[in-house]
Amino acid sequence: MSDVSIRKPDLIAVDGTPAPLVDSFKRRITYLRLSVTDRCDLRCSYCMPERMTFLPKKEVLTLEELFELATGFIDRGVDKIRITGGEPLVRRDIIDLFEALGRRLGHGLRELTLTTNATQLADHADALAKAGVRRVNISLDTLDRDKFAELTRRDALPQVLDGIRAASEAGLKVKLNAVALKDINEHELPDLIAWAHGQGHEVTLIEVMPLGEVEEDRLDHFLPLSEVRQRLEKSWTLTDNDANTGGPARYTDIAETGGRLGMITPLTNNFCAGCNRLRVTATGQLYPCLGGSERVDLRGALRSDQPQVNLAKALDEAMTIKPERHHFRMDERGAEPAQPRHMSMTGG
Ligand code: SAM
Ligand code: SF4
Repeated sequence: MSDVSIRKPDLIAVDGTPAPLVDSFKRRITYLRLSVTDRCDLRCSYCMPERMTFLPKKEVLTLEELFELATGFIDRGVDKIRITGGEPLVRRDIIDLFEALGRRLGHGLRELTLTTNATQLADHADALAKAGVRRVNISLDTLDRDKFAELTRRDALPQVLDGIRAASEAGLKVKLNAVALKDINEHELPDLIAWAHGQGHEVTLIEVMPLGEVEEDRLDHFLPLSEVRQRLEKSWTLTDNDANTGGPARYTDIAETGGRLGMITPLTNNFCAGCNRLRVTATGQLYPCLGGSERVDLRGALRSDQPQVNLAKALDEAMTIKPERHHFRMDERGAEPAQPRHMSMTGG
């Protein structure tokens, strides 16, 4: 897009500070999900194919560039950053980035967090806590070792459980995310929820989304969470909780387990109206919507002769193109993915 479309006056607010990020639907953007690598040590079958092609390293932003980029967002009012991937903890020296960003906590940044598969978390939990991370989201779809090995194509459940334990011991609040999958973990979900609540962890269930080509037809395993809820209600008392953390999850309390269950239903429902987030890939491509193809190249801005000015302009451009909502559908067998990008690319 040319410079003409950039609303220059938005770059600076009346009081001289950089203007906050507000999109054309008047949604204030305060949350960045920053992918630091597209690589991963697992191969979850709904996320990526076994023979995934990863990006050449030179295309990926350096840690310094990631920091500069994050700083540009913080300066525009983003106060929560989630580091994601791919698997963020497989990126070499990633703790350096956490430490650098951790120094912005209380100085523009309110929360620094990450989403991880926890295979390497036992090695990093203490350093993350020291850097200022207080909460982690850990993806875990099954507690059955064989099923885990089949689903992720790696026999890594023991490491993941070690990672979860280490996170708790380091004082990190753990939230587990599980993708609900028909014929794979559907019958195990009550046990997974009860186990997590017993350990003091919150759980969020997610509907599988059509993002990127994988070997299978995701429709074979699509499980609407409305169905899961009906089943849970046969043995548990679910009371909706009004807590809204600003995200797409809706919460319910389970009397029998004493814990809280989140549900993210991008397919059967969407909560785009309150969307406050942006996603940036490891190559610096900003996607204002997970389900859309709109994109702004931040790497070009960062590597230009005036990185700060061009980054600010690029963020303004993103505000003009963030769509009102996504249009995922999951009702056509063999349909093309809604987006060719894998979740590991855009950052989950
Ligand atoms: N590797 C890290 C992990 O698994 O936590 C972070 C990145 S991963 C892409 C983030 C989240 O996206 C995970 O919870 C994963 O289950 C979820 N995910 C990946 N592909 C998905 C898909 N097609 N539909 C729904 N969730 C997906
Ligand atoms: Fe890796 Fe996370 Fe994708 Fe699984 S969901 S393959 S752990 S990026």
